Amino acid sequence: METKDIILELRTKHNLSQDELAEKVFVTRQAVSRWENGETIPNTETLKLLSKLFDVTINTLLGSPLDLVCECCGMSMKDTDIGHEKDGTFNEKYCKWCYAEGDFTMDFWKQYGELGGKEKFEEFKAQLIHEFNTLLHIEGLPMVESLNVLSGDYINLEYTLPNGQKVKFLDDNASYLGSQLECEFGGDRCFGIAANMDFLLVCTYEENGENPELVVYKKR
Ligand SMILES: [Zn+2]
Repeated sequence: METKDIILELRTKHNLSQDELAEKVFVTRQAVSRWENGETIPNTETLKLLSKLFDVTINTLLGSPLDLVCECCGMSMKDTDIGHEKDGTFNEKYCKWCYAEGDFTMDFWKQYGELGGKEKFEEFKAQLIHEFNTLLHIEGLPMVESLNVLSGDYINLEYTLPNGQKVKFLDDNASYLGSQLECEFGGDRCFGIAANMDFLLVCTYEENGENPELVVYKKR
């Protein structure tokens, strides 16, 4: 799509008249009309205002959305996934789950951020992968190759102990590094792994986390 169509579409989606949009980004109605006719495109300062107003990146406004990858967790990001600074502008380096209102959301990432940022974080990830692959020796668990940042409320499964007691090990409000892996022997159960600075956890479960069983919870 071209800038003119994108602006028209976003303006319509936000139920704004040309006049109203013009007022919000400090231009005349004629300027908005010229953008939408394809006669001109907004200048850099106005693009920034439009980006903030419509919550899309400048690249999207210019018709060439970037192929962005979060430097923290590695997920590929659409505009709606990108993190924000305190003033509402985008920080295109990080996704919104890793970075919000000008700061990292994850405690362990924050700590590593203070120690030296991304490299230290990658080192930490590599260390955890190494530990999963060398310390646990779990039958059927394939080699771990990557870990993603996962939100606690998403992976905090409830296990039933042999005595019938139900337990959870994670904190819904924390984030962990983890992954889901197919069992090497096939079958309908897969492995879930999760870790942070303090522990490694391996469990198995059926589709959608049903009938989870804890395999290992190991302090680091
Ligand atoms: Zn991220």
